[in-house]
Amino acid sequence: MTETRSKGKPNKTMEEIVSLCKRRGYLFQSSEIYGGLNSCWDYGPLGVELKRNVKEAWWKRMVRRREDIVGLDSSILMHPSIWKASGHLANFTDPLVDCKVCKGRFRADHIATSQCPKKPSKCPGEHSECDLTEPRMFNLMFKTFLGPVESDSAVVYLRPETAQGIFVNFQNVQRAARAKLPFGIAQIGKAFRNEITPGNFTFRTREFEQMEIEYFVMPGTENEHYETWKKTRFDWYVELGMRPSHLRLREHGSDELAHYARGCADIEYLFPFDWSELEGIANRTDYDLKCHQAESGKDLTYFIEEEKKHVVPYVIEPSAGADRGTLAFLLDAYEQEGDRTVLRLHPELAPVQVGVFPLVKKDGMPEKSREVMDLLLDHSFAAFYDESGAIGRRYRRQDEIGTPYGVTVDSDTIADGTVTLRLRDDMSQTRVKIQELPGALREATHAYKRVDRGVETP
Ligand code: ATP
Repeated sequence: MTETRSKGKPNKTMEEIVSLCKRRGYLFQSSEIYGGLNSCWDYGPLGVELKRNVKEAWWKRMVRRREDIVGLDSSILMHPSIWKASGHLANFTDPLVDCKVCKGRFRADHIATSQCPKKPSKCPGEHSECDLTEPRMFNLMFKTFLGPVESDSAVVYLRPETAQGIFVNFQNVQRAARAKLPFGIAQIGKAFRNEITPGNFTFRTREFEQMEIEYFVMPGTENEHYETWKKTRFDWYVELGMRPSHLRLREHGSDELAHYARGCADIEYLFPFDWSELEGIANRTDYDLKCHQAESGKDLTYFIEEEKKHVVPYVIEPSAGADRGTLAFLLDAYEQEGDRTVLRLHPELAPVQVGVFPLVKKDGMPEKSREVMDLLLDHSFAAFYDESGAIGRRYRRQDEIGTPYGVTVDSDTIADGTVTLRLRDDMSQTRVKIQELPGALREATHAYKRVDRGVETP
């Protein structure tokens, strides 16, 4: 089943998430004490943990658990010729439209989902006074200067994607890792785009993080790898608890494809504002390596030992946004059940995995709880100790930030060494021996499955 949502209108779920994020320390507006900086955001104590966990879950499954992918961390500032070769200098543009009346700036291809600042709320061009210019192309790359002299020869760009750092290191990595086709190079890092219309919280910002893989394959085998990658990447979101009914794979039509691409598909999430891209998977042929080969004059081929011949590998590129993904995990986790607010985050992603609570602040319970904390921290769980307020309130505070497990130490604990283990999702409670807690939590995390009741209204 597909569903569209009210385009461009403020949305209750989004507003509630923005407010929860600020209240509980997931995200703050950047430079807030100076009035903020348009669509720039700072991750607070919980947000930084969540986003790290998202990136870690990606790195673990895409790099560490695979023998065919290695990592890279290339620099943000790179030789300007890279952007000439990749086509970004000439083509990394969006069509910009100005309104001569309200001075608003809009992306010509986003008019239908944009809002004119005049009331009542309408799309740009829909008020009788609107006076929109013809679209002109605007390059999205941020420019700066290398060194103290602001001359044309010192111009460099903040990278608009991490991918090019991978392509230009193809030979270095292939030789150093003695990698054989097919193999991939993965990178997580910041990218910068001077977006005309950023917005929808962290969905579209000017500074963001990407998680990208260039997967190099033998020419002629690209279609099968393309199919495999679409599935691998879709399954990654589901395995980490995103509900399949809120995800879809949308294959691009031939009119959307770049001239060199053989195929491109977006993994889309049903955001409160509409279905929108979380990640793109592209079948890019040998375009990028050939462009860099031509521009640099360096050999970027791969030598096939058995056939004694050189080929330029083809590439499949799964390109995801860490911030956009983190936002989607948050939105997907958010549920309001009566007066209980709960984030059903996967235990692998939750900033706090387990809350430890002495039932009361006496009779040895705080001391015993500290022992439980030490055990859990020794086993690398993100554990949080809380002794203040009624136990029910403490559970609710953890539900609201997405903590999947609660451990309560009571008078029985002192007598028999067992604790109450409470699960966030169904609020069930069982008794577990303290020494068995790490194993029980690991097992529950491994077996975790989010209930999917189908598309829910925001
Ligand atoms: P869009 O059409 O939404 O602008 P795109 O197709 O230009 O995205 P890609 O160049 O394919 O995006 O970048 C890969 C991923 O990087 C996107 O799927 C998204 O998750 C993330 N991303 C791209 N631009 C932004 C942005 N301005 N803010 C946050 N994340 C972004």
